[in-house]
Amino acid sequence: MRRILPLDPIRAAPSRDIALLRQGIPKGHKISEQVEGLVQKATALYESLSDPKGVFAEISLSEFEEVYHGDGQNASPAPLPGIMKEADCLALFAATIGEPVSRAIDELFQGNDPATGCMLDGIASERAEASADLLAAEFLGSVLETGGADGGARVLPYSPGYCGWHITGQRRLFSFLGPEEIGITLSPSCLMSPIKSVSGVLVAGRPEIHDFENDFDFCFDCDTWECRERIASLFEPLPTKD
Ligand code: SF4
Repeated sequence: MRRILPLDPIRAAPSRDIALLRQGIPKGHKISEQVEGLVQKATALYESLSDPKGVFAEISLSEFEEVYHGDGQNASPAPLPGIMKEADCLALFAATIGEPVSRAIDELFQGNDPATGCMLDGIASERAEASADLLAAEFLGSVLETGGADGGARVLPYSPGYCGWHITGQRRLFSFLGPEEIGITLSPSCLMSPIKSVSGVLVAGRPEIHDFENDFDFCFDCDTWECRERIASLFEPLPTKD
């Protein structure tokens, strides 16, 4: 199964509160008219320029073990090798907000408006992360429909460059998935272009398979401990469509 999706829900910018939170400004904090204007300008720019697309393709465990191994530079131990073995289904994915947004951010920083560039950068990063969640929801829907996973299954994305999976893993991921078809390319140093793009593997399975202790060597250098929130979210009810 390989699907390309337009990701229309993230053509819209996130809420004002989320855009501000990305700049470290908590909800309810009083902001100046100037900052309010920056949010409005960056939001309008994002919504006029965004062209989000995603692709995912199912992959067998043995194929993914080869992709994950990459150039042999992964940290060991790491969470993903154990998680993938317990998964019901796996799919490689990539998504992008599109080239025009990334170009606009560059131009704002190189020109005379780094403040708007910063705000737009935060909005685009948040939307890129949201694109992975959208693809995860689509993949979950597909595997539930085909009976590839049981009704209690959930999907989490994992990406090269995080949690022990070396960034050079991008090379085999790109060879297998071919995200060039939606306009994403890979540089020799494994950076994606457009810069506001994400890639990785979608892992479908029981919530418990994603639950691990974050006591790996590389966790001591981690600023976010983002895995704690991701794991906790799996044990909450799925949002309903209305
Ligand atoms: S603490 Fe950070 S590096 Fe460690 S598993 Fe969690 S997110 Fe990954």
